Amino acid sequence: MAQDNATQVVRSSSGAEGAARVVMEARSLKKVYGRGQQSLAVLSDANLSLRHGEMVAIVAPSGAGKSTLLHLLAALDTPTSGTVYFADKAIETNDDDAALAEFRNRAVGFLWQRHQLLPDFTAAENVAMPLLLRGENFTSALGTARKWLAEVGLEDRADHRAGELSGGEQQRVAIARALVTGPTVLLADEPTGDLDEQNAWAVFELLQRLHRTHGLTSLIATHNLRLAARCDRVLGLEHGVLQTREARASASMAPGGEAS
Ligand code: ADP
Repeated sequence: MAQDNATQVVRSSSGAEGAARVVMEARSLKKVYGRGQQSLAVLSDANLSLRHGEMVAIVAPSGAGKSTLLHLLAALDTPTSGTVYFADKAIETNDDDAALAEFRNRAVGFLWQRHQLLPDFTAAENVAMPLLLRGENFTSALGTARKWLAEVGLEDRADHRAGELSGGEQQRVAIARALVTGPTVLLADEPTGDLDEQNAWAVFELLQRLHRTHGLTSLIATHNLRLAARCDRVLGLEHGVLQTREARASASMAPGGEAS
């Protein structure tokens, strides 16, 4: 295993034809929760470069720090030390609130394992929410939301309350909500973790299609090694450090493709 060295690859080949630009980068990320004897070091030296158009999987056991890493990349939390860059600009979580809200709303789409939809609002209202938060008018936001629901195959469920939809449908609504603002990067935290095998594949294939058709750069934390093996690269997270992992070997390690 080698530490993720995509940064060096891109930099050393910066003059080379076809080298995709780095969209998001993490340098020496460290995250320690708590203080003193109660402190817990989750990330010790996490380095990552996401190149434009890549779909990258992070596979690691529960508790390894996948969510922590994704939250830091999305500026939902602050690293103890180290820096996240988006399009060469350092994201400072002490930036003013407006700049951070702009980053969260436009640069990154976040997909949670448990969809986090508002059950009493309709599917269309849930998808429209990020647009309303950035000040779009209701009619226009709802129109865009309906288009996104059509993209995820749920146009006929647009006016159903989110709480009435099945698990797989709710996750598709959540995908539409994550992408409705047109982000550059999609960060997905175990997006199929709560779904049965059939729905997990359907959701993953939808993510792959949207990743391609919308020119996204995607980072997906997953337990499912067979899904991970379908990504461009697979990273492991061990002792707080990201490492390149051999996708085929990973997939054959556990029957059924599930990590322990
Ligand atoms: P994963 O996503 O790989 O399951 P997490 O990033 O959720 O891992 O958690 C990594 C470790 O950090 C776990 O031991 C978890 O209990 C701990 N942890 C996560 N969030 C907090 C927090 N806010 N405060 C203290 N400990 C936390």
